[in-house]
Amino acid sequence: MPSLPTEQSAALFERAAKVIPGGVSSPVRAFRAVGGTPVFIRSAAGAYVTDVDGNEYVDLVGSWGPMLLGHAHPEVLDAVARAARQGTSFGAPTGAEVELAEEIIARTPVEQVRLVNSGTEATMSALRLARGATGRDKVIKFEGCYHGHVDSLLVAAGSGAATLGHPSSPGVTEATTADTIVCAYNDRASVERAFAEHGDEIACVIAEAAAGNMGVVPPMEADGENFTAFLARTAHAHGALLITDEVMTGFRVSRSGQWGLDGQHGDLMTFGKVMGGGFPAAAFGGRADLMQQLSPVGPVYQAGTLSGNPVATAAGLTTLRLATDEVYAQIDRNAALLRAEVGKALDAFQVPHVIQHSGNLFSVFFTPQGVTAVPDWSVAATQRQDVFAAFFHGLLDNGVYLGPSCFEAWFLSAAHDDAAMDRILEALPKAAAAARL
Ligand code: PLP
Repeated sequence: MPSLPTEQSAALFERAAKVIPGGVSSPVRAFRAVGGTPVFIRSAAGAYVTDVDGNEYVDLVGSWGPMLLGHAHPEVLDAVARAARQGTSFGAPTGAEVELAEEIIARTPVEQVRLVNSGTEATMSALRLARGATGRDKVIKFEGCYHGHVDSLLVAAGSGAATLGHPSSPGVTEATTADTIVCAYNDRASVERAFAEHGDEIACVIAEAAAGNMGVVPPMEADGENFTAFLARTAHAHGALLITDEVMTGFRVSRSGQWGLDGQHGDLMTFGKVMGGGFPAAAFGGRADLMQQLSPVGPVYQAGTLSGNPVATAAGLTTLRLATDEVYAQIDRNAALLRAEVGKALDAFQVPHVIQHSGNLFSVFFTPQGVTAVPDWSVAATQRQDVFAAFFHGLLDNGVYLGPSCFEAWFLSAAHDDAAMDRILEALPKAAAAARL
């Protein structure tokens, strides 16, 4: 029996299931991987979310990444209200979108960006541009990497797709995925084989800049070369492009994302989450000569009624401007503390696990006994989902809201102060005890 009251959430879930498939607007929210009733959120402030039954949780989901500053940050709210009062959508260019584009360009190696509404749109558009620019069709993606629900990339995807055990989806046609080649992340030989076989047909390789949707799996070094650097070198040797997907890592693992940590980037990059400040905003960008292939200057079509929406743009721009070096230093410190404390708690109850991180983005793998590192999906998938489910509910019952899937990263924010961290640290031993199955 759950120890917290959940009647209101349960009632809403029952109502929701009648009108929304699975009762949710995005699959992983349904708690299918962990069992039980999803908590319906009423409000959020700082490091906390409150559900409709009045339970308050320290939030480690952060809306799956965007809430770098915490929820309902007063300056972001002010910017949003100011923007909304001036009109919520014009379908015409604005000064604010120029400022957001300039801010992204100042923090990353891209020379031009186009704003879109979701990470899915960003990767879909980047893919189209890569194909249009090279005149080639095939794409390499990695097993366990998730780039949104783009048809041609919904093959061996991570995140919700992995949790639900649907690595690909009905409705995605054979023809659509025929041009998608799936390789193993961090496995250079699999990439070399794909290029040896299809070299002059491959438009691009797309990879998460550090994988975060099969749990956190950073690009590994081999012979002094980082995996992403290897991808860039190999793609370029064959006349193909590299797309680094920074939708999750961008403006989170450092002010300049994963590129700020390892200096590696694609010819095109995709961004989302943090740069929308909790609103639907995302972007893709890259070298000016490639971006100039886009409509209206070039032939590659791409568009959006709400792209560059003034309210979303205001939220994103204000979030980025408030995301100072101190913000990242604090999140990095708390992430390191949390990794250490999770490890201690699980060790104390002899729960086998591996903790991996890229900067402040980390996750805990409930791997079987004997596994010491997770380089790719084949190992990530060996996790004990039952152990994770027990750990997850142990945290939830003790007022900590973690993503309801063992394949998700843990997201901290600048609003996680000592009081919030203490609440997590108090809950950890109880959750670890619950995970000793
Ligand atoms: N790319 C990555 C790396 C992601 O983590 C996600 C979402 O989790 C996406 C793309 C898709 O973004 P969205 O959910 O905004 O469509």
